[in-house]
Formats: sequence, C-alpha cells, structure tokens
Amino acid sequence: MLDFAFQKHLKTYYSDTMNCHLQQAQLSQMETADVCIIGAGFTGLSTALELAEKGKSVVVLEGACVGFGASGRNGGQAINGFEDGIDEYLQELGLKATQQLWNMSLEAIDIIDERIEKYAIQCDWKRGYLTAALNERRMEDLIYAKQTSSTIFGYSHMQLWDKAQLKRHLGSDLYVGGLYDGNSGHLHPLNYCLGLAQACLALGVKIYENSPVIDVELISDTKIKIKTAKSAVNAAHLVLATNAYVDKLSKKIHFGIAKKILPVESFIIATEPLPQALADSVINNGMSVCDNNIFLDYYRLSADNRLLFGSDSSSNKNMVDVMRQNMLHVFPQLESVRIDYGWGGPVDMTLNAKPHFGQLHNNVYFAQGYSGHGVALSGLAGRIISEAICGDATRLQIFERLKVPSLYGGKLVKKLALAVGKPYYRMLDRFF
Ligand SMILES: Cc1cc2nc3c(=O)[nH]c(=O)nc-3n(C[C@H](O)[C@H](O)[C@H](O)COP(=O)(O)OP(=O)(O)OC[C@H]3O[C@@H](n4cnc5c(N)ncnc54)[C@H](O)[C@@H]3O)c2cc1C
Repeated sequence: MLDFAFQKHLKTYYSDTMNCHLQQAQLSQMETADVCIIGAGFTGLSTALELAEKGKSVVVLEGACVGFGASGRNGGQAINGFEDGIDEYLQELGLKATQQLWNMSLEAIDIIDERIEKYAIQCDWKRGYLTAALNERRMEDLIYAKQTSSTIFGYSHMQLWDKAQLKRHLGSDLYVGGLYDGNSGHLHPLNYCLGLAQACLALGVKIYENSPVIDVELISDTKIKIKTAKSAVNAAHLVLATNAYVDKLSKKIHFGIAKKILPVESFIIATEPLPQALADSVINNGMSVCDNNIFLDYYRLSADNRLLFGSDSSSNKNMVDVMRQNMLHVFPQLESVRIDYGWGGPVDMTLNAKPHFGQLHNNVYFAQGYSGHGVALSGLAGRIISEAICGDATRLQIFERLKVPSLYGGKLVKKLALAVGKPYYRMLDRFF
C-alpha cells in the first residue's frame, strides 16, 4: 500500500483557508479517455486543463486528494528562470535553446496570470520576489545573474539592491544585499490547485480521488491500461505527474524515472496573524523572499499577515522549534510571536537541479524534478506536454536535451546521498 494513498490534506495554514472541498469520487468503473494522468497536483491538473481546452477527453487519477502533494503545501513562490546558473545551460544547449528555455520560464509566470484571470481563481496572487545574499560571495552570484539575464536575455525586471536599499523593504540585518525581480511572485498554492481542478471539472475532465494507481500495462503504441485497486482506465496516452512520490511507486508504474529524483524534505511554519506594524517590520512591499544558499530559507507574508517561513532542514525532530529558531535568526523582532502551524513535504530535486521532462515510449509522458521552481514550471510542463500529445513535441524536445544524472541503487542510496550530501552542502553554505 502506498503510504500517501487515501490521505486527507495535512493540517496547514493552507488547508485551514481553502476555498472549497472538492471531494471527487473514487474510480469504481472502467473509464476510457484520450489521456490518463496520474497525480492531481499542479503538473497533472495543468496538463489536464490544457488538454481539455484542446478538446481531449481526460481522466486524472489521484491516490489521495487534489493538492495533497507538494502543490497543496509549498512556499507558494512562483519564480522564473531555473535553479542552476545559466552558464551550464549555455554550455549544454547553446545560446538559442537557452534563450528559448528562459522565455518559457517567463511564459510559466504568464500562465499563472492567464489562468487566474480566465477561471477566476482566488489565490492571493502577488508579484514581487527578492533573492537575498547572506555574504559578499553570494552577492557576486546575484550581480552575475543580473548581468547575464539582461545581456543574454534582455530581461529588464531585475534590480540589484545594496544593504541599505534592501533594508527599506526587508526588516532583517542578516543580508548584504539582494536581487529584486518584479515579475516573479507568490500565491496560496492549495487554492490555486483547487482552482485548476475546478476549471478542469468545468471542461469535462474526470478527476478521481482516493484512487492510487497500482499497475500500468502498455498494450500498444496507442493503448495503455492504468489500473487502480477497484477498476481501470483505458487511454491512448499516459502522463506521469507523480513528482517526489515517484520514489514510492513500482518501476512498472514509473518506467525508471524515479532514479532521477532525490526527494529533499522542506518545512514551513506559519505565525499567528501579525499586527500591521509588526508585519511591515518584516516585509513592507508584498514581495516573497528566498536566500541563495544551497539549503535555503524562503518566506513571505500571507494575505492575513502571517509570516510563512520555510527552510530545507536536516532533521525531522522538533521541526517547529528548529524552524522557529531559523525564523528568529532572520527576524529577531518576532520573538514573542506564536507559531500556529508547522508542516513539511518532499521537494522534487534532481542531482544537478535541472528539470526532468520527457516522453517514454510513444505514448507516455512525464514532468518532474522542478528543483524548487515547480510552482511556475509545472504550468509550463502541462502546456508543453499537451502540445506534444497533440502532435507538436518541439518544445518538449528542448527540455529532453537537458542531461539529468541518475542516482542508482534505490531508496537506500538516496538516503545515504542525503545523509552525506547535506553536511557537505551546509559547509559550502557556511564558508563560501
Ligand atoms: C514544503 C515545500 C515547499 C516548496 N516551496 C516551493 C516554492 O516556494 N516554490 C516552488 O516553485 N516550488 C516549491 N516546492 C516544490 C513544488 O511544490 C513542486 O515542485 C510542485 O508542487 C510539483 O507539482 P506536481 O503536481 O508535480 O507534484 P505534487 O503536487 O506532489 O503532486 C503529485 C501527486 O501525485 C499523486 N500520486 C503519486 N503517485 C500516485 C499514484 N500511484 N496514483 C495516484 N496518485 C499518485 C500524489 O498523491 C500527489 O498528489 C515546494 C515543495 C515543498 C514540499
């Protein structure tokens, strides 16, 4: 039994402020569709929505409930670009394809805007995002990022802030400066996810909850049988939108793509709502913030002025206490503030932080490994997979050219990699 199957949403700030309870049925009769999608997070629902808009019949199978995974509990930061430096992309793909990828990452943000407007999704979407540097070495990385994005891509939304400029908007003494991007933004991820699901349902997509897929049978290039415990879907195409949960599935379901994913736990706490003056003493311009360490802190204010503070952390023990200390390190002025929520989940990292999208066989597609950029990139993934299913794989093929290393040896090796890798990267964060 998959441990996430049949689960309800974790108790989080997001689940306590969700716009609706969808409650879709379990799959109990045979279905036939053009496309079957496994996973009802951003990736699965974005793909379903794009396909439904193009007139395809779609069934989405979700093992737990819509937005149960990372999409319903993340930091909500929709950031353009990719996790790794642009030089590696230039070396690997050359200028033209790198420019295309960059433009697609901007399209990813526009997709959020379009969907919110088109389907009237209430999810507290706000633009404005800062990458904050903890030391001069990290600041140099930001100066370089600003230079390359303007010279190579002609991108003009970024501003470099020195310590004094940063302190006008961010009430922390910790940083030496930052890079502000007025295009990226943040949202209430669970409400965005539920909004996508409602848009899908309105277009005739069938979404089944509590329907974990336990087997997949490739019958031919145009026929696949996707089985749950109670029934099955016959489809012409299959999309794997299982994200970090891919690790828990059998190879027959994931076709080998699990070896590309290293699930890294990340945690978030939410404070009580802050009085306006205290909230302004933290962030006064509505932006979300992330530092540029390898193991990073990310945070923003919610619509009701709670600080949502996240970190990639090394332990599962007393996470709320650990996270509170992390928060107070950045914002000592919050010493007397109550913590109302704490939760965590696995982030879908790849070993080189490059996204992993592609096509397996003639009729199986996947998108995973967003490496911290999934809020934005998952919408793009849905669009380009739907294009490929409808006959134009040009944009998907650019992503397929990115090399993503495999981690062989299964879950034990992944655990070891994390145990050994974390202290090493923490040391890099401290000294470089
Ligand atoms: C704590 C945390 C903070 C994060 N913060 C950010 C952030 O601020 N910005 C950002 O860009 N990214 C962030 N991320 C990452 C981001 O949330 C993900 O990249 C993104 O949500 C991936 O969406 P998805 O639809 O691919 O996966 P998910 O939302 O995880 O959906 C996968 C779904 O597949 C289902 N599933 C899996 N296997 C099966 C099966 N066999 N049968 C049926 N269903 C199955 C699961 O139940 C799950 O609902 C964060 C992640 C976490 C955990």
